[in-house]
Amino acid sequence: MNLSKRKREALREQFRGCCAFCGSKLPSREWHAEFIGEDYVKGGIVAVCTECRSTKGSASPEAFRELLSQQVERAQRHSVNFRTALRFGLCRVKVSPIVFWFERCESSPAVTFSPNLATPHNPASAA
Ligand SMILES: [Zn+2]
Repeated sequence: MNLSKRKREALREQFRGCCAFCGSKLPSREWHAEFIGEDYVKGGIVAVCTECRSTKGSASPEAFRELLSQQVERAQRHSVNFRTALRFGLCRVKVSPIVFWFERCESSPAVTFSPNLATPHNPASAA
């Protein structure tokens, strides 16, 4: 997608400098502007990291979500390293819904990726 330098920077800032799908920080260059449609995001265009772009290909966001939902099972089936890491307790599988960054960053400006903030602390229940 051919955008002016100013429009590219505005698009990048629309997603707070992060990939609209995975939420990882985008470099100043080497990212893609991709049309996904107004049904998903205002303006219909998102900023996408090269990894998500490569994995997603031309799939729709919903097809990409379905593809992502199969990643753990594929890793278990095809990766000796992953199976070994599981067997020795080096990692655990946790099934979570796939929520794209563009679905989170617009509705909640205060969202962070800190795992310490993922579970709200309730001092009343600590007693
Ligand atoms: Zn990404």
